[in-house]
Amino acid sequence: MKTSFIILACIMATTATFAQDDNLPKPELTEVWEPVPKLVSPAAKAGEPPSDAIILFNGKNLDEWMSPKEPTGPAKWTLSDGIITVKKGTGPIRTKRSFEDYQFHLEYRIPANITGSGQARGNSGIFFAATGQGDSGYELQVLDGYNNKTYVNGQVGSIYKQHIPLANASRKPGEWQTYDVVWTAPRFNDDGSLKSPARITVFHNGVLVQNNVEIKGETTYRGQPSYKKHGPGPILLQDHGDPSEPISYRNIWLRELK
Ligand code: MG
Repeated sequence: MKTSFIILACIMATTATFAQDDNLPKPELTEVWEPVPKLVSPAAKAGEPPSDAIILFNGKNLDEWMSPKEPTGPAKWTLSDGIITVKKGTGPIRTKRSFEDYQFHLEYRIPANITGSGQARGNSGIFFAATGQGDSGYELQVLDGYNNKTYVNGQVGSIYKQHIPLANASRKPGEWQTYDVVWTAPRFNDDGSLKSPARITVFHNGVLVQNNVEIKGETTYRGQPSYKKHGPGPILLQDHGDPSEPISYRNIWLRELK
């Protein structure tokens, strides 16, 4: 009985509040009903692609990839046991298709028997919008980050020589690690000048390491980055060329954002 009274009192109070606010705009005026977001079925397991993903590598073949050094042949890296391993000396591999803005997922593994130090220890990289020759575009660094000291704007999770990661979430060599990325491509004016810079958000093993940072230009080893006009571009994986054991990749997909 007492509870019923309290509920009734609450309803009356609420009604009174609404009555007092009659001069405010109707709440319906700020409800948006269209466009209805498309239905996407999430993955059954974390890391697996959702229903609308473009599968770039699922362990079966390298059909989505090519080697820029020999563009007419198949991608040169090693496919074995459902994983891709860098084949040192063959150069990078890149997607045959080009993309603009997307959500991107990839897994990599530094070999358990990794040797070397600093930049020569499990170095590879993911280059977004790799529209030029070789390692062109904008690099998200891949490197052993487990007890491996190097310059912090070149460690794993960095936007190479541009943005230090917010954390080092590295797993041990031998364990699979994930990158989840939101990539927004730069836009250019007709005269070639920059309209809006590229932006990137990165989660490394589920930990936020780049929070919608603005990219300063194409990655460069020496000197300052700058922009050159380009359109949508492929995604490139780096063959770094250092003598440490080659790293592996698996489960690569993206969702285009339009
Ligand atoms: Mg690299």
